Amino acid sequence: MKKMEIVIAKNAGFCFGVKRAINLVVKAGEGKKSLYTLGPIIHNPQVVDKLEKQGVGIIYDLHKFKKGRIVVRSHGADLSFFKEAREKGIEIVDATCPFVKSAQNLIKQLSKDNYKVVIVGEKDHPEVKGLISYANTEVEVIQKTNQLKNVFCWKRIGVISQTTQSRENFKIIVSGLLQHTKEIKIYNTICEATQDRQNEAKKIAQRVNLMLIIGGYNSANTNRLARTCKEIQKKTYHIETEKDLETSWFKNVKKVGISTGTSTPQWIIEEVVKKLRRLKL
Ligand code: SF4
Repeated sequence: MKKMEIVIAKNAGFCFGVKRAINLVVKAGEGKKSLYTLGPIIHNPQVVDKLEKQGVGIIYDLHKFKKGRIVVRSHGADLSFFKEAREKGIEIVDATCPFVKSAQNLIKQLSKDNYKVVIVGEKDHPEVKGLISYANTEVEVIQKTNQLKNVFCWKRIGVISQTTQSRENFKIIVSGLLQHTKEIKIYNTICEATQDRQNEAKKIAQRVNLMLIIGGYNSANTNRLARTCKEIQKKTYHIETEKDLETSWFKNVKKVGISTGTSTPQWIIEEVVKKLRRLKL
């Protein structure tokens, strides 16, 4: 029988910011002092488990924290966290992604220049919560057009985006703001990593019989990627590891496509491919 063809997206695996954060954790873990991450380092339970087994703990705030070093994940953290850590003399390893850092700096500058700030994004996302703390002025998080009315009376607006927002939604919100605001400064802070991944996965989904999206079930960008591919290829399955694969999915399938969220490590992709090669169809 002819072997099933497997097409793996070129940009599958960690994005730049996640790779950098994981490398910083691994390097910091070589030191003697105990190491913690502020929340799970990434939205991938298998990687988080692996790090925990290597002795990397997780903390959620500084209230009861006594000693050790803390890694700030790629989403960044609240300014108040850095302040409190400094006051307590706690050593911080800052793994904030440079793209998120740049959005934080732009918010600081907009506040200084007397712009009120609109962040296009999800208000409960950790990156957005961190971004808000950098605004020394009024700030509004907008995800949908029905929230635009909250800022219609603002005269000078600075707009930035959560790094993982879609370009389409950013355009919709910005054009809504343009209809009501005299002065507006727009910074496109969308990270291309997620957009490029979506575009590549969409193309692959068009030419395969089944699409696998690998990544944490708790990862927003993996879920979004799976949803997008499902619109093109009905046989799209979101899995976390090779254990989630079901042989029945692959009956009469000649070509399988694989893409991943930005927090999926290479070793999980390899395990999935290994299992696919072993499937008895
Ligand atoms: S998706 Fe983009 S902004 Fe987010 S961590 Fe990865 S590279 Fe950085």
